[in-house]
Amino acid sequence: MSRFNVGILGATGAVGQKFIRLLEQHPWFTVTALGASKRSAGKKYKEAVNWIEPTPIPKDVKDITVANCDPKEMSDVDFVFSGLDSSVATDIELSFAKAGVPVISNAKNYRQHKNVPLLVPEVNPDHISMIKDQTFTEDGSGFIVTNPNCVTVPLVMSLRPIQDAFGIESLVMTSMQAISGAGYPGVPSLDITGNVIPYIGGEEDKIETEPLKLLGTLNDNNQVDFADFPIQVTATRVQVIEGHLLSVTLKLKTVPTSIDEVKDAINNWENPIADLNLPSSPDVALRLYEEPLYPQPRLQAYAGNGLQTSIGRLRKAKVFDISFVTMAHNTVRGAAGGAILNAELLVNKEYLKA
Ligand code: NAP
Repeated sequence: MSRFNVGILGATGAVGQKFIRLLEQHPWFTVTALGASKRSAGKKYKEAVNWIEPTPIPKDVKDITVANCDPKEMSDVDFVFSGLDSSVATDIELSFAKAGVPVISNAKNYRQHKNVPLLVPEVNPDHISMIKDQTFTEDGSGFIVTNPNCVTVPLVMSLRPIQDAFGIESLVMTSMQAISGAGYPGVPSLDITGNVIPYIGGEEDKIETEPLKLLGTLNDNNQVDFADFPIQVTATRVQVIEGHLLSVTLKLKTVPTSIDEVKDAINNWENPIADLNLPSSPDVALRLYEEPLYPQPRLQAYAGNGLQTSIGRLRKAKVFDISFVTMAHNTVRGAAGGAILNAELLVNKEYLKA
């Protein structure tokens, strides 16, 4: 297979850096262009970035000159990943799509567009066909695919087998979100040290709506009929570096006769992309832990190279039907790694061509 030349928009941010680290050894994708704001443009990457990853800046990337996020300045790419701040993503991502450059985005801006897939490959791979109705270019060469909010990812991964087996009537959850989810420099240390912040602006709305698109079904117009159940979220920030942990309680349409029935549904769930051998696909995409002390961000955030979703504490609930905790790495599974897996699926399905 030919290799793909890849650009990264927002390359200097927390998610942009994660893209660069995860793509360092990638068998299909080579980073050839980096874009950021005019504060960074014109500088070598190593001078523009405040590098926060634990391994050194890859040697093939550190001397790349950062460009403005303009398709004319980043023309030698087959597609771009976007880790752009949402305040600027709408116009910049559109400019790339209109220039015929596919955009695989982490930003929220196009997640609810009627023709843009909000994609988690293990959850709704069929939604990829929505790309065919995008009209950013006449020949369909420029398109946008998004991945969801970093809390939504472990949530929908966990809900998929439960929704399929029992149907979901309603959901109540609290998220305990890592500091790295706020980007860099993120939450002031005086606010978060030894503390829990009980509100994250804008977060609850996303978590209350995105799962309904992801768990929805494609209709005859190749658009999504959303799943229909209420989601009540409390989003909190906790003093954890990486890994968002969620406490979830569900009311189900069909009440399981025992908790073992739910365990079986999760353990026997068939991952729809398991046979595709995508390079970033973890060995186990969804793991149910029986040990009551698992999962923990410090212990399981990097399970499956950061792409595993880890469920635990599955039990019968006294209010509603079942409760569990679930977690995933927020900047790997919930951002850059999830977007890379999306791109790998797009290559496998021949939407991306080198
Ligand atoms: P961040 O650390 O604040 O990085 C933002 C990036 O956007 C930087 O590269 C910045 O470049 C660039 N940027 C800002 N203004 C720009 C402009 N006017 N023109 C071009 N580039 C500009 O944010 P982050 O945490 O990486 O998040 C990036 C995106 O991913 C956001 O949309 C966020 O909601 C989403 N996301 C984040 C997470 C997470 O866990 N952190 C998870 C899922 C999704 P400069 O350095 O030059 O300013």
